[in-house]
Amino acid sequence: MSLPTEQPDVAAEAQSCPAPAPGAEISPFDLERMDIVAVGHVDHGKSTVIGRMMADTGSLPDGKLEQVKNMCKVNARPFEYAFLLDALKNEQAQGITIDTARCFFNTTQRHYIIHDAPGHVEFLKNMITGASRAQAALLVIDAKEGVRENSKRHGYILSMLGIRQIAVLVNKMDLLDWDQEAFAAITTEYADFLGRLGVHPTSFIPISARDGDNIVARAAAAPWYDGPTVLEQVEDFKQLDDDLDRPFRMPLQDVYKFTEALDDRRIFVGTIETGRIRPGDDVIFLPSRKHSTVKTIEALSGPRPDEAFAGQATGLTLETQVYAKPGELLVRADQPEPLMATRIRANIFWMNTAPLIRGRRYVLRMGAARVAMELEAVLSVLDEQELESVTGAGQVERHMVAEVILRAVRPVAFDQADTLEPTSRFVIVHGFDIAGCGIALEALEDTGRGDVTGRRFRRGDVSEADRAARYGHPGKAIVFVGESGEAAHDVAARVEQSIFALGVHSYCLSAADLGDDKDILGREAHLARVGEIAWAMTDAGIVLVVSLGDVDRFDLDRLRRLAVPHEVYVVGLDAGGELGADLELSPAATTEQAAEEALRALTAAGVLPEPAA
Ligand code: GDP
Repeated sequence: MSLPTEQPDVAAEAQSCPAPAPGAEISPFDLERMDIVAVGHVDHGKSTVIGRMMADTGSLPDGKLEQVKNMCKVNARPFEYAFLLDALKNEQAQGITIDTARCFFNTTQRHYIIHDAPGHVEFLKNMITGASRAQAALLVIDAKEGVRENSKRHGYILSMLGIRQIAVLVNKMDLLDWDQEAFAAITTEYADFLGRLGVHPTSFIPISARDGDNIVARAAAAPWYDGPTVLEQVEDFKQLDDDLDRPFRMPLQDVYKFTEALDDRRIFVGTIETGRIRPGDDVIFLPSRKHSTVKTIEALSGPRPDEAFAGQATGLTLETQVYAKPGELLVRADQPEPLMATRIRANIFWMNTAPLIRGRRYVLRMGAARVAMELEAVLSVLDEQELESVTGAGQVERHMVAEVILRAVRPVAFDQADTLEPTSRFVIVHGFDIAGCGIALEALEDTGRGDVTGRRFRRGDVSEADRAARYGHPGKAIVFVGESGEAAHDVAARVEQSIFALGVHSYCLSAADLGDDKDILGREAHLARVGEIAWAMTDAGIVLVVSLGDVDRFDLDRLRRLAVPHEVYVVGLDAGGELGADLELSPAATTEQAAEEALRALTAAGVLPEPAA
């Protein structure tokens, strides 16, 4: 057994990137880290800004500046700071695959990582999936070109990502002779647009990246400007890394079981998104609501830690036996609970060539949860040209940003983006691809239409009552549920044999293996088939005995809904009262004993007819 080692890999990142400041005595690992994204319309000067920041803070690898300058001389090209970035990125790209190029600069306070995305698609994907997380943004605008479509789109994206610390850099002021009024006009126009999106930039800074004005050094040409330089601004950005002090959230990735005799401990593993946890804390798994108390925090080696924090891959043992399944969200009972819903209002960005349409099945991946879902409604999409929200669209095309309602087949636990953004993120999978990504805005009420089917067979004219009169009993489904589907099947098979011998018109079917969590749609489809079979056979007047393994109360609810109007009676074999079963049997030593006990209890409950004397 091994605990996952998936720590945020600062060391690996540092290796994959240009070296930190030459001769710097301070290692970047000693510094506070801050992630910043840089966005801007092509050619507005984003690369030049980043190159300048690196050069002017002395953060370039030794000799790099001279090397690039020499190269320009040899090729008879004027030197550009943007070339620095190209050179560094080429080096990065040789060793590793990078989605977002990362550049670094250090000050005495902080180690800055600038995420510079080649395009907004990759950028958004990384940002929303959480591959990159930024606490602040630099948005570059060309003073001469003014606010362009992409500037607006970038503003929208930042608002969608919930990045609140934004410095708008109005670049190439040298081309406008540092005209204060031109700067004011751009500031007003863009501030207006962003304001409508609820985004309020921290600052607007007039700069000339080429000349290094107001980057690190102040622009002598703009005595009228008394705001911060870019460096002063980034140093002033607040560290939002208060993840430790936020409510505890740990998506349950896996459950390790000890298989040695008499050792029934389980280790619940996942990476803590936010907050902290200690032995003795009461915890709840959502959406199942199973609860327990943390007993230990496991360690790979050495003594067990007495606390685990956000960002750590962690294994917990609990005081009581809990059958929680991977995919749930573990939270602390003494803290605000996340939301739970099947219907979610969300902002999404769609990336697949095939549009997001109604009636198609997708998989929603949120935290560790994998749930089948459909698009219920498109509330609005961001119009490409006008950059305004448009209502009435029936689907979401590639590269569109949209506000939608998603409907999952079972409840998912999550947080609202403006409350706890890490657990508000999700991706939508279509086939094997990440087709879209988004953030949850609101949990909507379940309208009760949350099921698949729509299918109803047309039955013949023999009434249920006539069938029941002939067979001596109505049709119904008795479902045996156990942690082990095999064991549940053995009990179910024996029960069926006994009732058949008593004259009951019965049939036994094992649906123990519903398929694994990697194939959610397959699993959902299989469960739906079990539901249809249960409906048809019970409608035929038969007492159907079904066994299921590895299901939860939501699967069972769904089965019940699918079988309507026929009764589904659930017998939990070892579920510990967590499945909402109609009857719970205490664990029996043998299959025979379990079957006998089940028969007795089912008869006593009136589910099975009394054997004729
Ligand atoms: P990016 O596509 O946004 O990364 O833009 P670059 O950084 O590659 O810059 C695009 C062009 O604008 C290059 O030719 C730069 O030299 C030029 N540029 C960048 N900043 C300035 C500036 O402050 N003033 C002037 N005049 N040109 C600049």
